[in-house]
Amino acid sequence: MSAFDTVIHGGTIATATDTWKGDIGIRGGRIAALAERIDGGATRIDASGRLVLPGGIEAHCHIAQESSSGVMSADDYYSGSVSAAFGGNSSFVPFAAQHRGQSVDDVIATYDDRAAPNSVLDYSYHLIISDPTPKVLTEELPRAFARGITSFKVFMTYDLMNLGDGGMLNILTVAKAHGALTMVHAENNDMVKWMNRRLAEAGLTEPKYHAISRPALAEEEAIHRAVSLAKLVDAPLFIVHVSTPEGAEIVQRERLRGTKLFAETCPQYLALTREDLDRPGMEGAKFICSPPVRDAEGQAVLWRHIQAGTFASVSSDHAPYRFDETGKFLNGRDAPYPKISNGMPGIGMRLPYLFSEGVVKGRITLQQFVGLSSTNAAKTFGMDTKGSIAPGMDADIAIWNPEETRTATLADQHDNMDYTPFEGMEITGWPQTVLSRGEIVIENRELKAGRGRGRFVARKPVSLTGMPGYTAPELDPARNFGAKVAP
Ligand SMILES: [Zn+2]
Repeated sequence: MSAFDTVIHGGTIATATDTWKGDIGIRGGRIAALAERIDGGATRIDASGRLVLPGGIEAHCHIAQESSSGVMSADDYYSGSVSAAFGGNSSFVPFAAQHRGQSVDDVIATYDDRAAPNSVLDYSYHLIISDPTPKVLTEELPRAFARGITSFKVFMTYDLMNLGDGGMLNILTVAKAHGALTMVHAENNDMVKWMNRRLAEAGLTEPKYHAISRPALAEEEAIHRAVSLAKLVDAPLFIVHVSTPEGAEIVQRERLRGTKLFAETCPQYLALTREDLDRPGMEGAKFICSPPVRDAEGQAVLWRHIQAGTFASVSSDHAPYRFDETGKFLNGRDAPYPKISNGMPGIGMRLPYLFSEGVVKGRITLQQFVGLSSTNAAKTFGMDTKGSIAPGMDADIAIWNPEETRTATLADQHDNMDYTPFEGMEITGWPQTVLSRGEIVIENRELKAGRGRGRFVARKPVSLTGMPGYTAPELDPARNFGAKVAP
């Protein structure tokens, strides 16, 4: 009997800090040994000429989730996890969305029913909170936290989701008390509504007008406000899908000041522009997401921020709505842009795109790629057995062929969508084989794992080491006449 269930042999292994040639011994679903050479193994995987990386962690995706207007995403936990796996991921963290009037306990039970029987990959949830009643704040969120759901997302936009500044302060305070991380979609709701009204009055409702309906200033203002709210109570904050240089600059500046702040951007903000929203007919609807895709000048700046470490992660924000009446056109084929479902797919393209445009084109190192695709998400979101290659860690591993060049196609996505916004892009570097807890999920680009093998991952509190934070003088007992207002 071999000492190892599986040995990955002869590959170039990389983590967020190092690259070396060697073998990995896997036993009981975990990495048991790293050495220059390991013999044996009930299964031996030849990785010569390949990169052996920590499996990706997709930290922003919408799977089996109803939007606030009641549209169900096209991917369930099966197709969503399969597409993620083909794209080099070993685990993912979709959202569990509370809509107004729902109890958080019921929401979590609903998502457990959706995920557990179906997911091919390990999963956890970020909660979306849209109705922070006293019961939610004092009983349900603490219960969710105790279960290992350690991140809560809130919205500053969309009338049915937006909590207002006071609601956000309440969530930030509760999250902080439990060690949870608040995530925020930051766009100024009234600016967007005002733009929508003006455009509608002028009869400008084609998809391309989505690009200007949500101004860069709406993101910049809301990020600044979200950071200010978080600083008032010294709570950690994660800004999702930063799409503008101005937003990224705020993140960079505040991180330098020690604010407990994290952020991500997404491939669509690097790959696509408003010209895509101006494709003929209703084609532009495929590229409607919020915040909107912007312009080439902004993309160059976002890349600089990726290089400089402003962003913890590059996430897909996979929000799959088909190009038909079940998805984009729920309100009709010729719906005005505000009534076209918001979001685009990309869970299978996140890592190939980032590898091809980042590593292959020399913009980022392989170590940065591993950090942005896996390690940082594991640390930010408290998945302490995932995100690296080291003894004792889960054997979540993606084996890449860094030289394979293929054109991105819908067929390669293995999701439940009828388009990919990345169609036709030439991509160099593709994951070939993906392991999750030592089990082969994808082998030579074929699915090998079954529905429901994925497990729920109870997550730890966010680590804030190295982030001193901020004490507002008005909340500092030494300087506020002893008033007890601090959380
Ligand atoms: Zn999203």
